[in-house]
Amino acid sequence: MNTVSGASSTFEAAVVGGGPAGLVAAIALCSAGVDAVLIAPPVEKPDHRTTALLAGSVTALDTLGVWPACVPHAAPLRRLRIVDDTRRLMRAPEVLFDAAEIGLDAFGHNIENRHLIAALEARIAALKLPRIVNAALAIESDADGVTIKHADGEARVRLAIGADGRRSLCRTAAGIGTRQRAYPQTALTLNLAHARPHDDTSTEFHTESGPFTLVPLPGRRSSLVCVVDPTTADALAAMDDAALAAEIERRAHSLVGKMSVEQGRGVFPLAIETADAFTGARIALIGEAAHVVPPIGAQGLNLGLRDGAIIAELVVDARRDGFDIGAVEVLQRYDTQRRADATSRAIAVDLLNRSLLTDFLPVQGARGLSLYLVDRIGPLRRALMREGVSPAAAQPRLMRGELV
Ligand SMILES: Cc1cc2nc3c(=O)[nH]c(=O)nc-3n(C[C@H](O)[C@H](O)[C@H](O)COP(=O)(O)OP(=O)(O)OC[C@H]3O[C@@H](n4cnc5c(N)ncnc54)[C@H](O)[C@@H]3O)c2cc1C
Repeated sequence: MNTVSGASSTFEAAVVGGGPAGLVAAIALCSAGVDAVLIAPPVEKPDHRTTALLAGSVTALDTLGVWPACVPHAAPLRRLRIVDDTRRLMRAPEVLFDAAEIGLDAFGHNIENRHLIAALEARIAALKLPRIVNAALAIESDADGVTIKHADGEARVRLAIGADGRRSLCRTAAGIGTRQRAYPQTALTLNLAHARPHDDTSTEFHTESGPFTLVPLPGRRSSLVCVVDPTTADALAAMDDAALAAEIERRAHSLVGKMSVEQGRGVFPLAIETADAFTGARIALIGEAAHVVPPIGAQGLNLGLRDGAIIAELVVDARRDGFDIGAVEVLQRYDTQRRADATSRAIAVDLLNRSLLTDFLPVQGARGLSLYLVDRIGPLRRALMREGVSPAAAQPRLMRGELV
């Protein structure tokens, strides 16, 4: 790591926030020769959640030299099974999506966030990327640049990239509000070992309280995202390991046999939150600073990585053409490109989630019919798979295997 010391320092760009979206953006900028600084305090505790990285995200990480360190910890997702586990009148058929059907080895890979972060941090160290190991305390934009104050001084940049999560200081400093909707649901997350192999297949049981999803990890292990009402989530989280393992096995219909739970349970109230704008004066928001989507359908960080890839691409293009990287035109282009992708994904996740919660028979019927059609009509199923893995409207260069 190339720790920046001294009270005042100047760079072309700063990435504020050391979550996965920020680390990827910083690596992309640095790899393209941009004089960027990462402003991020050290990670406090390991994140045991996992991320299902879609194929485009894996390609981007590979292009940035991060993926080799992830490989030992990542499991391929070759098949995705959806099981209607509701007890409703109109139930959908079981649907199996197979990556081979669209010529892919896997839809993506699942990895624990702690391993992903470690691989990103290692790449940052190898690149000797300048880093201020402090939180940003205040951010002020003016006509020529942005001043970011931290405990040991301040950094002056032309563009600040806010990757500082759902309570983003960059967003507040830019005067950007958010639209928010809370769901009556909570996600319980944990990792499990199990007796039988998962066969590289992720299984999503659709229940009346939300999805219950088992996603492969290397070996006979899987991660679980179990979406239930908050009271049930609290009750499950309070169980001892043996009782919880038995209850999860029951909910999974013993699909992968006897289970044991690993340390590191998480409880996440479900909400959707979108920033009113993705940019302000010389500030661009990426990742959860711009959009929070519920952990359904593996969209959140995949969107965040596309944000990081696109802002890096726009900065590199502006710089090459001799423009100011924090100019209004650059920021407007970013806002337009990213808003469409984030909004369409948020709407899809919201619709799916609400179709599970509703008792309204026609909506249940429509969901069942959609899955029936997807199961029976090959071209529709394949088009859906292709769009899920690599959205036609949002394919940054990094996701196509090209450096920014
Ligand atoms: C249960 C669950 C399962 C999920 N599964 C998936 C999945 O399978 N696939 C997927 O794509 N997504 C998934 N997601 C979403 C994914 O986890 C998030 O999108 C991702 O973690 C957000 O990353 P980020 O870098 O934007 O924000 P964060 O990870 O929140 O990082 C923000 C960083 O900014 C730092 N920070 C905050 N304030 C400051 C400041 N003032 N100065 C400097 N630094 C600051 C914080 O310390 C933090 O390190 C899931 C989410 C949940 C809750």
